[in-house]
Amino acid sequence: MTAHTIGSHLRQARFFLWRLDSYRFLGSKFSCPICRCSFRKMKPLEVIWNIRGIPTDHHTENAICPRCHSVPRQRFVVEYIRQKTDLLTRRQRVLHFAPEISIYNLLRHADLDYVAADIDFSRFAGPMVYADATDIPFPTASFDAIICIHVLEHIVEDQKAMAEFFRVLKPGGQAIVAVPTYGDKTFEDRSLDYAARELQ
Ligand SMILES: [Zn+2]
Repeated sequence: MTAHTIGSHLRQARFFLWRLDSYRFLGSKFSCPICRCSFRKMKPLEVIWNIRGIPTDHHTENAICPRCHSVPRQRFVVEYIRQKTDLLTRRQRVLHFAPEISIYNLLRHADLDYVAADIDFSRFAGPMVYADATDIPFPTASFDAIICIHVLEHIVEDQKAMAEFFRVLKPGGQAIVAVPTYGDKTFEDRSLDYAARELQ
């Protein structure tokens, strides 16, 4: 058994445990647009982000869905998809970059020609293709839609990635792209290393 296979089994076991554990949260106060379950409360999100040199402790109550483990930005995107697009009502070809496990599980079971792509397979137990966003291994005009959430900020050649999105989208296709923003200004200096950039 390879390390990849063992990792895949461990991830599947983790999803199963999430599902079992979610029963103790069942209720009607919160609902998740991804797994479509309702809960009396969600799990809290606790994370420390280093924002412009300042370690910022984020504690958010009722943030993580107990069943699909989605976080608010993922539920926001899926709510947008449900209300503003035809992704879940018309069969079409969708490319999803660096997929979030909750959205991945939703879309791969929808009536779609769904392609999940990443340069790192370590987080997943299901089908994926290897793809670099700056050199997408698909022909021009291959997809009706692209989903890419909190990925572009990690890519040095982000404009090249966006040009590739445009290339592989069919005319009239849609790209659903999200990046994090803090405050009203952005700062970009590729000559700085990662530690120096965090201080800006
Ligand atoms: Zn959920």
